[in-house]
Amino acid sequence: MSRLYPIEKYRNIGIIAHIDAGKTTTSERILFYTGISHKIGEVHEGAAIMDWMEQERERGITITSAATTCFWTPGDYLKKDKTHEHRINIIDTPGHIDFTAEVQRSLRVLDGAVVVFDGVAGVEAQSETVWRQADKYHVPRVCFINKLDRMGASFEKSLESIWNKLTKNAVAIQFSVGEESNFSSIVDLIEMKLVNFEGEMGKDVIKTEIPEELKAKANEWRAKMLEKIVAEDESLMNKYLEGQEISVDEIRTVLRKSTIDYKLVPVLCGSSLKNKGVQLMLDAVVHYLPSPLDVPPVIGTSPNDENIKIEKRPDDNEPFAALAFKIATDPFVGTLTYLRVYSGQFKKGGYLLNTVSGERERIGRILRMHSNEREEVEDVYAGDIVAVVGLKKTSTGHTLCDEKAPVVLEKIVFPEPVISIEVEPKAKADQEKMALSLKKLQEEDPTFRMETSQETGETILWGMGELHLDIIVDRLKREFNVETNVGRPQVSYKETIENNSEAEGKYIKQSGGRGQYGHVKIKLEPKKRGEGFEFVNEIKGGAIPREYIPAVEKGIKEAMSKGVVAGYPMIDMKVALYDGSFHEVDSSEIAFKIAASMALQDASKKANAHLLEPIMKLEVVIPPNYLGDVIGDLSARRGQIDETMDRTELKVIEAKIPLSEMFGYATTLRSLTEGRGTFTMEFSHYEKVPGNIAQEIIEGKRK
Ligand code: GDP
Repeated sequence: MSRLYPIEKYRNIGIIAHIDAGKTTTSERILFYTGISHKIGEVHEGAAIMDWMEQERERGITITSAATTCFWTPGDYLKKDKTHEHRINIIDTPGHIDFTAEVQRSLRVLDGAVVVFDGVAGVEAQSETVWRQADKYHVPRVCFINKLDRMGASFEKSLESIWNKLTKNAVAIQFSVGEESNFSSIVDLIEMKLVNFEGEMGKDVIKTEIPEELKAKANEWRAKMLEKIVAEDESLMNKYLEGQEISVDEIRTVLRKSTIDYKLVPVLCGSSLKNKGVQLMLDAVVHYLPSPLDVPPVIGTSPNDENIKIEKRPDDNEPFAALAFKIATDPFVGTLTYLRVYSGQFKKGGYLLNTVSGERERIGRILRMHSNEREEVEDVYAGDIVAVVGLKKTSTGHTLCDEKAPVVLEKIVFPEPVISIEVEPKAKADQEKMALSLKKLQEEDPTFRMETSQETGETILWGMGELHLDIIVDRLKREFNVETNVGRPQVSYKETIENNSEAEGKYIKQSGGRGQYGHVKIKLEPKKRGEGFEFVNEIKGGAIPREYIPAVEKGIKEAMSKGVVAGYPMIDMKVALYDGSFHEVDSSEIAFKIAASMALQDASKKANAHLLEPIMKLEVVIPPNYLGDVIGDLSARRGQIDETMDRTELKVIEAKIPLSEMFGYATTLRSLTEGRGTFTMEFSHYEKVPGNIAQEIIEGKRK
């Protein structure tokens, strides 16, 4: 076994963007220029290569996160000279915010990212969200300001919005020449060249001297760029201050290091649709984004003890470890499990251990996915991204590793779903088929949850937004032939407490024979939003024997699953068990569980329990003449306007608004703006429901 490409020539990258910024078009151009894709399908014709699920084509959005392998030789090296060729694995990240968990999952497995912006809109609300997530996973990135050919586009304004909204560390290494439809070329500030894109689909990158009329601007921009770059390296700084010439390689070396350390973010420009700038962006991926060797090793834990940390380094000679980051149902080969290999090597035909399910899996077939073909692979190595066929017991987030060196790689914490719907099959006979199909879909997408009530047989689906659940219902029909009736979407309310409180719970029955005896005293304390539930055992001196403590915790959790206000789950609180008593004969787990439940209910009432509702971050984009009506409508929906901005000829409203007020908003906005308004929405936080509205929810008048 031996690897074809050295690991330092790998780039595992994602292309992340606000929906419509041009991610699909950019990905297609990448595949074209990297020589894999020879025919380019335009998005609107539904022939996009990366979007291979039907709904994605129809909706024009990318939901699944598949991985595609391609090859690129940067710059002026002869393309035939393979010694400079790099393997780029593109991990497709979804653009729609309803699928943030998929974005997170893909961010977890990639080493670097290209963030694509719409050169007209600049930084949009969702780009900001995705950017913050990339921060969370320490993903080094470069920015690509796309669509500079469009009316109203501006490289400089977009760059400013990156500085203002995302990071002051952004540094332009290019600028665009010609505005809007006259956008013609790019000035490369590192090589100090004018770059044109000629031939079929702009495939020929022609570099020439910067013309006289652009020299002053180029010098000024280069100085601004150099100041930022040399500040990251003392010896380069000295050279610069002494007025010495700084070479292209010196700039690239420091910029590469600073990008990987997230001290600088190179900003590039172009127009994917008009075939400008994409090759330079690919060069930047090779020059500035990390190989698997450049990022810190992943830290896993021992399957037996979470406190034992295990480092997995990108080394072929270490025991094998990989993370399953995507399950997809492929129409031709069945279940595909996408793996990111962190350590070691593996040959097909062998067995791997799934440390989460505890099962062994035989790996019979391994595929490397190119945009339009599947390549059978014999073996895989550290840094690889591949798909394996036919795994039955491996879900997203599971670790597959060498049986002799078991490890659990970090698992991803998914956000809480905020919305639910009830589904039932149109044909009663489909009940079981629906359940099985939903289970399959859930394996692919852990952010979607479901529950079938034992008593009523109702099936409830929970998701991240209306569109998320729409798509699941849609897939049930298309892929599994199960037609369903769907109820009205319901908001996932929660409950919490406002004050500290104390309460006592006694469950004592002693009337002949063996009785019941459980007695607890607890204290409640509110926690901040998102901090979750904490149980603390403060029992001293054996007031309650240790064997009953888990029962107390269980009773508390059970009571918390149905809050005292309106039966919604309680969140974000600390419960301390500090006293109680027991009876030698009559005490039992069940008695303590009941006593704890009673205490929690009582304490919650005393602590001013109240309802919480999901608040969404909303961005509405409309022509200015509708501004008054749209804002008026948002206010009537309890919206709080954060900001109203101009974006070329349009107005952008940013607001926070309760999810419960937003059902059917698409229709309202359409009629308010004669079809010209658009909006995007994502979960922001949970907030206390105002009294009068809480009353309606409690009385069941409002859902
Ligand atoms: P995604 O939602 O981010 O994947 O964006 P798409 O690639 O689907 O692009 C959204 C729309 O913008 C499509 O109609 C594209 O043809 C168009 N588009 C993409 N890139 C450019 C560009 O550079 N210039 C212009 N004018 N339109 C573009």
